[in-house]
Amino acid sequence: MVLRTVATLFFLLNFSFAHAEKLSLEQLNEGVYVHHGVHEDIAEGYHADICNISFIVGSKGIAVIDTGGNLKIGQALRSAIREVSSLPILYVINTHVHPDHIFGNAAFIQDKPSFVGHVKLPDAMERRRENYMRINQQWLGNDFAGSEMVKPNVLVKDSLKLDLGDRTLILTAYPTAHTNTDLTVFDSKSSTLWTGDLLFVERIPSIDGDIKGWLNVINELKMSEAQNAVPGHSDSLKDLNWKAQLNNEERYLWTLLNDVRASIKKGEVMEKAMDTAAASERSYWKLFDIINRRNVNTVYPALEWE
Ligand SMILES: [Zn+2]
Repeated sequence: MVLRTVATLFFLLNFSFAHAEKLSLEQLNEGVYVHHGVHEDIAEGYHADICNISFIVGSKGIAVIDTGGNLKIGQALRSAIREVSSLPILYVINTHVHPDHIFGNAAFIQDKPSFVGHVKLPDAMERRRENYMRINQQWLGNDFAGSEMVKPNVLVKDSLKLDLGDRTLILTAYPTAHTNTDLTVFDSKSSTLWTGDLLFVERIPSIDGDIKGWLNVINELKMSEAQNAVPGHSDSLKDLNWKAQLNNEERYLWTLLNDVRASIKKGEVMEKAMDTAAASERSYWKLFDIINRRNVNTVYPALEWE
């Protein structure tokens, strides 16, 4: 029994050392840092580090934008922040409800920041809690230990300004698009817009909200004056022409919408549409085969009665 306990302890220690790797960071601008996750599906084989997680350093304090898919990634992000600055972490902002963006929040509880999100985020988190806890536990096993859902205590209904000292962040909440909890963050000093998953780059957009609503939001984003953008997922931000990427995303969503509508009109069943809709987009996107089918599965029933 004692031996087993010692062995378990040894395993746990080893485990945490093995995962205490340094988080790779890209510095975008003065005080703006982004860590890029890898392009994996959220399913079996997922490692909790697939999205862009960022922090912005002002003269008064720091804002974190998204925290990764488990406590460990959140802790690694916090360590990376502490290597850059010892200023207080004032805000932890979630761009939307998806588990790859929120489950590192708990790493920042000790900093007593304001947790900030879309006005619908607390409810969306609550509705998904049981399912998210169960499936992430299943996918991540011990790597999910200590991860918990930390809800926002500052809510954004339309827009909100946050002062970091020598820079102001403008947060904007949107109607249902990628999800029903989408929020963007604009940093005036670096003219950078964090889009969350309203903008997908390289990786195929995944729809968990309303495809038509998303196309409307894309039109709004096109009018943004931001020079730079940080999408929800990307390998790098070097030479990212974000408006061109937004056009690619729009092209995919319109193609999907039109193809599914055509399928319904012809009387094709959903399973058939899953094989054919948006097939012309296949070569442009990573993870197309898995996620396009899921998108059809979301979009088809929503369009069936329009
Ligand atoms: Zn998402």
